[in-house]
Amino acid sequence: MQPIQEIVPQLTTPKTIAITMHQKPDADAMGSALALYHFLKQFGHEVFVISPTNWARWLDWMQGVKEVLDYEMHKIKADPILNAADWLFCLDFNHLNRTKTMASKLASIGATKILIDHHEQPDTVTFQYGVSNPGKSSTCEMVYDFIVASGFRDKINTKVAECLYAGVVADTGSFRFSSTHASVHHMVADLKEQGLDHTKVHEGLYDNYLENRLRFLGHVLSNRMEVFYELNTALIAIPKMDLLRYNIKTGDTEGLVNYPLSIQGIKLVGFVIDRDEERKWSFRSKGNFDCNRFARAYFEGGGHFNASGGRDSDNLQNTVQKFKKAIYENKSLLQ
Ligand code: 5GP
Ligand code: MN
Repeated sequence: MQPIQEIVPQLTTPKTIAITMHQKPDADAMGSALALYHFLKQFGHEVFVISPTNWARWLDWMQGVKEVLDYEMHKIKADPILNAADWLFCLDFNHLNRTKTMASKLASIGATKILIDHHEQPDTVTFQYGVSNPGKSSTCEMVYDFIVASGFRDKINTKVAECLYAGVVADTGSFRFSSTHASVHHMVADLKEQGLDHTKVHEGLYDNYLENRLRFLGHVLSNRMEVFYELNTALIAIPKMDLLRYNIKTGDTEGLVNYPLSIQGIKLVGFVIDRDEERKWSFRSKGNFDCNRFARAYFEGGGHFNASGGRDSDNLQNTVQKFKKAIYENKSLLQ
């Protein structure tokens, strides 16, 4: 993988550009993709954002989201775009397998693949150019860095600023995680100077749920949370019947994994949802417990040091047992 700055001289030559991100994109994935979209459009490129799957309804306030193609729904439209693309930007993931059914298509196309990502252990051979930095708060911060380093800071308009800010807020837990370096605050100050309405973004991200989601949260915290004080660990396991009863859709479960971390002393949270096709795990930790390693070792996953995800094809009961066994195996790291 060559440094991303090497593509800068070609930025001003019109191209067909596709931008994609990880499946079930969150605010950082969608925000970074749309910010880059609004930036690149200003050079006269043909730009398309293709998401591997659908996304949370509450991301629909983002400017440009109506142009995003859901690959699972619109494969027939998306495949010719991918075939014609000169460049493919891959944002907020670093292995093609994070794009689900799109992965084999991406592997087969001739587009130059460009990575911008902050997860651990990138599959660098897949990408011709890129930047990978697990020390960065968010992919949105990295897109901002790329724009500034390319000498086009003047192209950060309010659309770009809003999308970038959304990803930074989401991935830093509203500026509280240790990845919130001074550079993040400098960036936000700069975005404010470009006219960013930060209140609009916070309301879009956090005051935009339907009633059912709040009632579901109450149910989950009352009835689906187990705490293992001797291991400083909490577990939330959500059976399919809960998803049906509360009419839970993509994105409605996001953020729930963080709640048990507010219990004094809790270092690790495991959160699993019984999806149709798999049991989907999320892990969050505080301090020196490595969630990336844990997800890789036990649940075919990965991510960051303090936030990761994984999966299991076994049923809910068995995967929960696997988690309980795994935390006992990691007892010395959790106490
Ligand atoms: P979440 O729990 O919010 O789905 O994911 C937490 C972090 O781990 C995110 O940065 C996400 O991209 C990453 N992640 C989630 N699931 C997986 C997975 O199955 N594999 C890998 N490599 N990363 C994941
Ligand atoms: Mn991210």
